[in-house]
Amino acid sequence: MFLTISSEKVFKIWLSDPSDSEQTKQTAFHSFKKRISSWRFQIKNIVFLQKLKFMLEANYIQLIKILSVTIDPKRIITNPLQTLAYGTDASFYRLIPKIVILARTEKEIVEILRQAYPLQIPVTFRSAGTSLSGQAITDSVLIVATHGWKNYKIFDNNTRISLDPGIIGAKANAYLSPLGLKIGPDPASIGAAMIGGIVGNNASGMCCGTSQNSYKTITDLRMVFFDGTILDTTDPNSIADFKKSHPEMITAIENLRDEIKSDQQLFQRIQHKFKIKNTTGYSLNAFVDFEDPIEIIKHLMVGSEGTLAFTSNVTFQTVIDEKYKSCTLMIFETIKAACDATLLLKSSPVSAVELLDRKSIKSVENDPEAPDYLKTLPNTACVLLVECRENDLEQIKIKQDAIRNCVDSIPTLTPYQFTMDPKQYSFNWKARKGLLPTVGGLRKTGTTVIIEDVAFPLHRLAEAVVALVKLFEKYEYHDAVLFGHALEGNLHLVFSQDFSTPTEVQRYSNLMDDLVVLVVDRFDGSLKAEHGTGRNMSPFVEKEWGSKAYEMMKRIKKIFDPENRINPGVLINPDPKSHLKNLKPMPKSNEWIDKCIECGFCEPNCVSEGLTLSPRQRIVIAREISRLKATNEDPERLAQMLKDSTYMLDETCAVDGLCAMACPVNIDTGQFVKEWRSNHISESQKKIASTLGNHIAETTATLRTTLNIVGGFQSVLGNSAMSKISGGITTISGGAIPKWIPNLPKGSHKIKTAAINSGDETPIKKHFSSYEIKKGVPDNQILNTFSEELKVVYFPSCINRSMGNSNLYDKEDPVLIDKTEELLKRAGYTVIYPEDIDNLCCGMPFSSKGYTETADVKSNELEAKLMTVSENGKYPILYDMSPCFKASKDHFKRELSIVDPIEFMLDHVMPRLKVKQKRESIAIFPICSAKKIGMTDKLMEIAKLCANTVTLIESTCCGFAGDRGFTVPELNAYSQRDLKKQIPAGCYEGYSTSRTCEIGLEEHSGLNFKSIFYLIDEVTK
Ligand SMILES: Cc1cc2nc3c(=O)[nH]c(=O)nc-3n(C[C@H](O)[C@H](O)[C@H](O)COP(=O)(O)OP(=O)(O)OC[C@H]3O[C@@H](n4cnc5c(N)ncnc54)[C@H](O)[C@@H]3O)c2cc1C
Ligand code: SF4
Ligand code: SF4
Repeated sequence: MFLTISSEKVFKIWLSDPSDSEQTKQTAFHSFKKRISSWRFQIKNIVFLQKLKFMLEANYIQLIKILSVTIDPKRIITNPLQTLAYGTDASFYRLIPKIVILARTEKEIVEILRQAYPLQIPVTFRSAGTSLSGQAITDSVLIVATHGWKNYKIFDNNTRISLDPGIIGAKANAYLSPLGLKIGPDPASIGAAMIGGIVGNNASGMCCGTSQNSYKTITDLRMVFFDGTILDTTDPNSIADFKKSHPEMITAIENLRDEIKSDQQLFQRIQHKFKIKNTTGYSLNAFVDFEDPIEIIKHLMVGSEGTLAFTSNVTFQTVIDEKYKSCTLMIFETIKAACDATLLLKSSPVSAVELLDRKSIKSVENDPEAPDYLKTLPNTACVLLVECRENDLEQIKIKQDAIRNCVDSIPTLTPYQFTMDPKQYSFNWKARKGLLPTVGGLRKTGTTVIIEDVAFPLHRLAEAVVALVKLFEKYEYHDAVLFGHALEGNLHLVFSQDFSTPTEVQRYSNLMDDLVVLVVDRFDGSLKAEHGTGRNMSPFVEKEWGSKAYEMMKRIKKIFDPENRINPGVLINPDPKSHLKNLKPMPKSNEWIDKCIECGFCEPNCVSEGLTLSPRQRIVIAREISRLKATNEDPERLAQMLKDSTYMLDETCAVDGLCAMACPVNIDTGQFVKEWRSNHISESQKKIASTLGNHIAETTATLRTTLNIVGGFQSVLGNSAMSKISGGITTISGGAIPKWIPNLPKGSHKIKTAAINSGDETPIKKHFSSYEIKKGVPDNQILNTFSEELKVVYFPSCINRSMGNSNLYDKEDPVLIDKTEELLKRAGYTVIYPEDIDNLCCGMPFSSKGYTETADVKSNELEAKLMTVSENGKYPILYDMSPCFKASKDHFKRELSIVDPIEFMLDHVMPRLKVKQKRESIAIFPICSAKKIGMTDKLMEIAKLCANTVTLIESTCCGFAGDRGFTVPELNAYSQRDLKKQIPAGCYEGYSTSRTCEIGLEEHSGLNFKSIFYLIDEVTK
């Protein structure tokens, strides 16, 4: 009885302490339950446990109920698949939130905090989730503030920019770039990380150092506190109101300030610690640098890792983004020499100095662009990548000389030159930036990639580097590479770690213990220089700062969050082992995705992110499914996950592969999803696909007829009636028959046999006889090899052979195939078609659905036919759809000169025609395949030749994804939700290079969207 009562008491106290995770509590309860053996105790404890579970759950249920009144319930997520997906960040920790709320406005944040706090429910804020130390995860309520948080304003003569927390750092820079400006903080993750997290972590990178980080460059902040109160430091009224409503908070901050200022030892310690980069614990320098409590609050928020309040807007002072950038690799014989040189460089006009140890260089020396001498460097060598920037070409030379003079006294192994050559410049930086992915990509499947992030006083850097290398050798982390922002004494050690066995966890634990002693006791450095304390370093904050400063930090937390409900367990955590708990499993799943480091860099490129899953989230789910299958731990959960993944993981993926463009380890999640689809296809479905593949002519003919019949009904019934009827049919068929849309095109027509290979009526000018057709030869070389006759093989895609013009706009215009032939002839080409054209297909419509075998058959067949018609590659082959071109480019094995529609038009058609009357205003959309093969600029070039004003539509994939726009129209609608806002007044036409994408673009833009071939034809007639 005693045991039960006292246990009840203990558990009740524990329950109200949110510094421990719910997961930990639940596990402990289970073992507690097991331990009590007597039946009386059992019954009592079961009753107690159920009461407790009920109490826990009831509060969450209550919260959902209350919030659903003001927040769209669709944005309050409890589905296990999505909570796991959203719960994941880039760290190696895993907690699964009970509720994920996709908050869109500050009003919603106020409401969530006002309701959650009294219910004793902890909340965690999240922006891009690229954090590495476990600060953006929770097992309670995760508030994701990304979509809807995109407002910005540049003001005060361009000296300031105010940004919502959901704006990606690189996007903020894109707004400022035309002004020659940028924001100060420059983490390597800036392409994905968002303002909320950049400020939350006080993130920094190669160039910003400690002088242009968020702490130094924020001028104002708008915050929401635990009780829902808003403080906007740009607004004197808000400040006055806050001071009136929260006098005790102001007094507490002032007391802390005065205590610190009157304690010289502590005051100086704080000053000293922030001379180098430091993100361990709170920004205590706020008390040293500022007098005004509002300024102190503002600066305490920087680097507070979402543990004090929510940031709803940030104003930064803008900084110069120099026009000219040059860099060099200085190679020194030893690490010591490189570190000594860094000390000297500190007083020279450098913008960045990055250190790369010999192992780092080894991992990039086989890159085709790497200079040969890298391979011959001795094992002791160490490289400094030195950057120099200026707005003026003469000045940059002066700066380069100054840098050279500064380090003259320390010999380098090879002579060095500063370079502005884009190829060399980008190799140097690619080498540096690719180090984390290189280790990540090479690691053993099932292991995690870990990046340590420490800083040392600069004058002891050499000693510290040597000590660190020895430490990693001691624990046999043989793949560890060392690099970092040398100028700031900031070093990263990247290595792989297995967390699947207790021995391996212990090895990591030992390493961490020794690392702490090395960094703190031996060098008085920072345990986290830029990645934030998170859960990873929370047990060691006191060790680094000492008990007096740590007590101050605990008081800060109490002032802002009296009941420890705002991101508990992060930054301040009494558990000395919190860095070893809740480790993320990394099970083997599928070769396409096993190397994923869950960094989240791919998310901004993904069309379904925010609708269902992002690429990272798809991978997380696939891994969990593999884990559940392997462990058989929870069959019910597995079944539910598999069921939900059909729509979330599979059906809403556009398989466009744009995610791969941002992935540091080159993962194309689209390819993985294609394989997933393929594995979930039945034999009978495969047979149907194969039959269709064998009867492309009949399939396209049927589609043409159907489209014409539907078009006929549309003209008779009108759009409104059609919409209703089709909606009904879709519902009755349970979604099997796709919904009709007014923008559905009419049918195309069969290519007339007479037209085939009949281009010889046109004047023959030159031909490609001497043209060496090689896959991969830049197409612009074609022109240099012309001789007499000008012939082109035209491969009209099966889509264009089926689908004609828009039923709404260009009913009477010639279909694309006729238009293309006419245009090519006007440009002087003889047009030849492949034999049996009606039956040809690139295979892409099959491969995108997972019918890889049929896709391969069709692609091989096409390749053979094109080989014949082009006389073994003698003539170039024009595609009229970019996706088909890309599919063939990736699949063909023989040396054929296939050409993308954009490239062919720009390089081989436009130079032969004269633009007679430019269009006034047009919009263009580079489809995914065009983006992936780098055709966006060329599409823009064509557009600018043809129109006075060109709007480049900003979007990821259009979401139409072949025919997915018909079957999963919400993906297309979601992708194009902001499309209309982008279209300027007076713009009525849009151009692209994929018929199906154009259907969706037309529907959501209200523009007449068609192939760029029409534009070229019309302006050159
Ligand atoms: C491959 C890789 C490289 C990286 N390189 C660097 C680097 O060079 N330098 C560097 O400093 N970091 C780096 N990071 C770490 C990380 O990307 C940065 O710290 C980044 O700024 C985090 O931004 P985020 O939007 O992902 O924030 P999140 O991870 O979502 O959140 C970060 C923290 O801020 C809090 N937060 C988020 N939004 C708000 C809000 N609106 N209000 C209050 N609190 C909020 C969260 O609770 C969390 O504690 C890297 C990460 C990866 C994966
Ligand atoms: S797929 Fe690539 S970019 Fe996306 S989370 Fe994984 S490693 Fe990062
Ligand atoms: S293929 Fe496209 S939709 Fe699918 S995960 Fe990648 S970016 Fe997202």
